[in-house]
Amino acid sequence: MLTVFSIIFGAMVGSFLNVCIFRLPKEESIIIPGSHCPHCHHPIKFYDNIPLISYLVLGGRCRYCKKSISVQYPLVEGITAISSLCLFLRYGLLWSYLFYFSFVAALIVIAVIDLYHQIIPDVISIPGIGVGLLGALLIPHITFRNSLIGMLLGGGSLFIVATLYQWLFKREGMGGGDVKLLAMIGAFLGWEAVLLTILLSSLIGSITGIMMMVLKGKDFKYAIPFGPFLSLGAAIALFYQKEIIFWYFQFRG
Ligand SMILES: [Zn+2]
Repeated sequence: MLTVFSIIFGAMVGSFLNVCIFRLPKEESIIIPGSHCPHCHHPIKFYDNIPLISYLVLGGRCRYCKKSISVQYPLVEGITAISSLCLFLRYGLLWSYLFYFSFVAALIVIAVIDLYHQIIPDVISIPGIGVGLLGALLIPHITFRNSLIGMLLGGGSLFIVATLYQWLFKREGMGGGDVKLLAMIGAFLGWEAVLLTILLSSLIGSITGIMMMVLKGKDFKYAIPFGPFLSLGAAIALFYQKEIIFWYFQFRG
């Protein structure tokens, strides 16, 4: 019963994250006005605003203007719902669940906004650092010391990389947003997971970059936003850190 509830709760949070993704970059209120179609601005009735289900019932189109609704909406709702379920199954209905679920929710919003707008909103990353540090005092899975070191290591290492890059290439490769994001990741996950996050996101980012260069057949003047890779790396570190480290040491014999 609670398992079903965790999925429904996750989908509802996902629906709210979509609102944040759409409105935060425009600096609009995330509370009022209620949901409306981005094309015809017609207010969306509650029965057309049911996460995942409404998208399927309406066939991915607005009821009023029939323009297609971005697949981002059901995707974000689905990913948030699955994350909620996985974290609930791992931690039960405890503070740890809320702690890590709020972390994943923040990563989802940051990744999608960075993908569209190449910015990482401070209104999420900076309070996120605070929540990570405070949460470490409450939950048994991470010590405050580890959270603090993780934050400093995450923010510090990326700050050095960003400064060096700017100094070498005379253009901004990584923004301050990425620095604050990795500081937030460190505060939530600790120093080991921050190192794993850097490794994974650089790896996935490089592979994607090379693939895009091959497909587009030219050098990339415009840096691909790094936030989505950092978020993905952090999510993998959160769910599979133990398995990856175990596999690595087994692999080395
Ligand atoms: Zn419409």
